[in-house]
Amino acid sequence: MAQKLLIVGPCAAESAAQMDDTARSLRDVLGGVSAHFDSVLRAGLWKPRSQPSSFQGVGIEGLPWLIDAAKYMGCPAATEVAQPDHLIAAYNAGIRHFWIGARTTSNPFMVEALADTMIADKQSVTWYVKNPTSPDIELWCGAVERIKCAGYTHICAIHRGFALGEHTTGLYRNTPVWSVPIEFKRRYPAVPLITDASHIAGKAERVAEVAEQAMRMGTDGLMIEVHPDPTNALSDARQQLTPAQLKDLLHRLATIDTAAQPGQSAELTALRQQIDETDDELWALLSKRLDIARRIGDYKRQHNMAVLQSARYDELLQRRIKWAQEHGIEPEAAKQIMDIIHEQSVLTQL
Ligand code: PEP
Ligand code: MN
Repeated sequence: MAQKLLIVGPCAAESAAQMDDTARSLRDVLGGVSAHFDSVLRAGLWKPRSQPSSFQGVGIEGLPWLIDAAKYMGCPAATEVAQPDHLIAAYNAGIRHFWIGARTTSNPFMVEALADTMIADKQSVTWYVKNPTSPDIELWCGAVERIKCAGYTHICAIHRGFALGEHTTGLYRNTPVWSVPIEFKRRYPAVPLITDASHIAGKAERVAEVAEQAMRMGTDGLMIEVHPDPTNALSDARQQLTPAQLKDLLHRLATIDTAAQPGQSAELTALRQQIDETDDELWALLSKRLDIARRIGDYKRQHNMAVLQSARYDELLQRRIKWAQEHGIEPEAAKQIMDIIHEQSVLTQL
């Protein structure tokens, strides 16, 4: 397995004792998988919480706790910075790995303020840019560009899922919308893309599944929240793993090997050939469908009919969703595909 990056540690630094406990237990766990993972110790010092009554982080008081813990573990320390004074305080204390949180990436003014902050040695710094809270690829790429244009060269991205308002009922706290990180990787193949399995999953028992999916997809690394006593954590208590749970997970992940180079075998080449031919047919059919839609548009115009016929679309959609279910296709995916096809048909009729 190619070496992956592993950013682990508590959601937030809470006390010197908690960071000390974390360091002692993680040193052993990470030592056991060092052939597979390069580690970074994380802990939030400034927490961007929705409610002002929630734990807001310990701030600069926690800097020495985090730095000492990372020193004990023999790895770099990372923390979240959201405004210039966070960055300056953490940099002056000796921290060189910074992540930009999802809420901060969502605000170009704040990213610009971080990028413009005077830092003596930019080459010593590594930035991790989390995706914004909404599935807006331009906002994510824009944040990466701002950091890059400021003269930094060590930049990674972190996929932490998107707030689609489904967290109370859905499987995830933040829906992965994998198409967004896939597009990010297409645009920035050289920027390491790390998966924050904890903020996607939102529940400790689902972190492993997300981490495994990401590993099979070929992620460059993982961010996983770990706390010595998750039940009593001051933030994100539901999603943090114990060090023992992390150990189990890492040993399982270490068996996933996706290092083989693509395009080597005759079997894969033949299968890709079949995909290309199928896509040719699919696109020819889509084009035929749009031609028919255009003719229907002419008919509607001649007969003074509204372009959008909602009842007819609902009937088409229900039929396709039922078909998808019977053929092992995710109904939600089927709906998204139909929505795009139908939207294009409607637009050709205007
Ligand atoms: C975090 O990593 O603890 C955090 C607050 O992340 P996000 O910005 O992804 O919500
Ligand atoms: Mn967290």
